[in-house]
Amino acid sequence: MKIGILAVQGDYEAHARMLERLGADYVLVRTPKEAAQVHAMILPGGESTTMLKFLKEEGLEAALRALDARGAAFFGTCAGAILLAREVRAPAQDSLGFADLVITRNAYGRQVASDVRSAPTKLRAEPLEMVFIRAPWIDELGPGVEVLAREGGRPVLVRDGRILVATFHPELTGDTSVHEYFLKLAAEGAARNSFDSSASKPASSQTSTAESNPMPRR
Ligand code: GLN
Repeated sequence: MKIGILAVQGDYEAHARMLERLGADYVLVRTPKEAAQVHAMILPGGESTTMLKFLKEEGLEAALRALDARGAAFFGTCAGAILLAREVRAPAQDSLGFADLVITRNAYGRQVASDVRSAPTKLRAEPLEMVFIRAPWIDELGPGVEVLAREGGRPVLVRDGRILVATFHPELTGDTSVHEYFLKLAAEGAARNSFDSSASKPASSQTSTAESNPMPRR
């Protein structure tokens, strides 16, 4: 299983170091061709407006939509979370809409724009250190969205099926638990969907749908 990390802008190197620590196979994705080779994608923190511009100009948006259509898992942190949301406010901007969320950008305001906090999660017993940098707020959640962690009463780590969204930056701490959780989602997605490379695919998942939808070759 190969994880793609969107590497057009932002802290993608921090995600790469996390995956290295976990021994996961990854590739930095800058072109549609690279995106077509992966089984799951990480969208890093950074500046969502800049990333969105690249996605549109480089044909990466279509490549990510094709991955989503094939059932790939996605993990967005902060700006990546904004890209994944169904609706983005303040200011409104386009998004991929893979996660049923409404997000407000830079919602904490200047005073508390960046902070390190700690909060409990559903991932394990001990609280998790959370780095917030000009973080957005998740304002609305669709009915199928599971809240995995809250901080200050607000959802900060949520999961919409195979789409994992963090408004903070797990990649900037030494704690690998959120990435480990994502790797499980990614493996489940790779086993279920129609990827035909080295993904482990149980016989039961090799349905006619999967076979009639082979991985596009670019
Ligand atoms: N505020 C940024 C944006 O709107 C996100 C900040 C971050 O990723 N740390 O894209």
